[in-house]
Amino acid sequence: MYVITIDIDKCEACGDCVDTCPNEIFALVEENGKKYAMVAGDPDDCIGCLSCEAECGEGAITVTEL
Ligand code: SF4
Ligand code: SF4
Repeated sequence: MYVITIDIDKCEACGDCVDTCPNEIFALVEENGKKYAMVAGDPDDCIGCLSCEAECGEGAITVTEL
């Protein structure tokens, strides 16, 4: 099982994590005028491929295996 964390202060809402995740874990949301990525899918679906970490140019995503 994996824990996915997103530092929303670093997130620039580029959408690359949404596009790259094979299991549709991420979605972009907008709140109080700030757009950012959040974990919207089931974290249990994460396979630990780390492509989200690799694709995020802001270093906002961390995936840790429990
Ligand atoms: S790839 Fe990184 S910067 Fe882009 S939306 Fe996802 S978390 Fe935000
Ligand atoms: S590690 Fe892979 S499966 Fe897990 S959230 Fe990132 S892109 Fe999706």
